[in-house]
Amino acid sequence: MTPPKTLRTRERLLPFAAPLVGQEEVDAVTECVRSGWLTTGFKVKEFEKAFAEAIGCRHALAVNSCTAALHLALEAIGVGPGDEVITSPMTFTATAAVVEHLGARPVFVDCEPDTMNLDALAIESRITAKTRAILPVHFAGLACDMDPILEIARRRGVKVIEDAAHAIPTRYKGRLVGTIGDITCFSFYATKNVTTGEGGMIATDDDAYAERTRLMHLHGMSRDAWKRYQEAGSWSYEVLAPGFKYNLSDVAAAIGIPQLRRCDDFHSRRRAIARRYNQAFADLAEIRVPAAPDDSSHAWHLYVLKLELDALRIDRDEFIRELVRRQIGVSVHFIPLHIQPYYRDRYGYAPGDFPNAFGAFQRILSLPIYAKMTDEDVEDVIAAVLDTVEAHRR
Ligand SMILES: *Cc1c(COP(=O)(O)O)cnc(C)c1O
Repeated sequence: MTPPKTLRTRERLLPFAAPLVGQEEVDAVTECVRSGWLTTGFKVKEFEKAFAEAIGCRHALAVNSCTAALHLALEAIGVGPGDEVITSPMTFTATAAVVEHLGARPVFVDCEPDTMNLDALAIESRITAKTRAILPVHFAGLACDMDPILEIARRRGVKVIEDAAHAIPTRYKGRLVGTIGDITCFSFYATKNVTTGEGGMIATDDDAYAERTRLMHLHGMSRDAWKRYQEAGSWSYEVLAPGFKYNLSDVAAAIGIPQLRRCDDFHSRRRAIARRYNQAFADLAEIRVPAAPDDSSHAWHLYVLKLELDALRIDRDEFIRELVRRQIGVSVHFIPLHIQPYYRDRYGYAPGDFPNAFGAFQRILSLPIYAKMTDEDVEDVIAAVLDTVEAHRR
């Protein structure tokens, strides 16, 4: 097979994802390390304040992962053994694993076939007397349809905890995610839109949830180490609950502060890449571009293509191999949870139990989309996709 002239030969694989960190982050970490204060302290406070201001929420609590944030959020609303939490199978395991950690059951509701967000209209029939919360995931950075979700939740007396790992900055009807449900959980993992290496944030407007998550994120102690340090000579504390060890370090927060400041610039860049991909792939019958509004509400954490398998002679796995052969890193979001051995065996799921998630899974692949990509990188991805389609169309 001879590649078309547009296919430049890359010397090295374009990574599927990479953070954009530079001198600002290096300086911030250096300053933090030089200060001698490495654990939770002033930098975390500064990061939380900046985050609350950027999102427009009353309370922001920095933690060491989105997984920790989700665990704390569910604990704060009182999820316990025997309870149920409704979520999507089209997500990362952390979303459902934290439900299991609390002895509760994740109840999957299928996703919509186009957006792959939780199907709001399918939720109500799965609510039982045991349901404590609905846990929507803003897939790829596109907001779930929150109005019907909130309406069902209020009417049936359950809480809404959002997995916003992809959703900074995401808007729903003009409002930023983080100001909508009862508690919202963000991720600052290395590949996410804003990073601290590892980290997360809990956003809420509810004073009681803010207080409970703050208590539980650091050993359930009545005052954290930072406050004790502030009041020199005060060694006393009370353990009010067997809390967790989920605090973020100042070193991580130091990276997060300049990252957050650049969040809108990163977003503009990802939007531009998404637009370029959409334009380049618009006329191809073999692939479908992501369902997305034309405004700036989508955070574009992921760019997920769907293959029209009937129009191709290769399947999704082979398509990915072809792209990797052309030096383009690719991923799949997600392998639906109900086909993962743990959830499958524990709850006896068959692949067809969630046909939209399973159907999408066989067709989806995620292309690189991150602020660090150059225009040349973007064109290389496009050329590799076009070349693969060209070589393998029916
Ligand atoms: C990344 C991710 C998480 C977990 O985030 P961590 O900060 O790594 O704990 C949870 N949910 C979704 C949908 C994710 O993509």
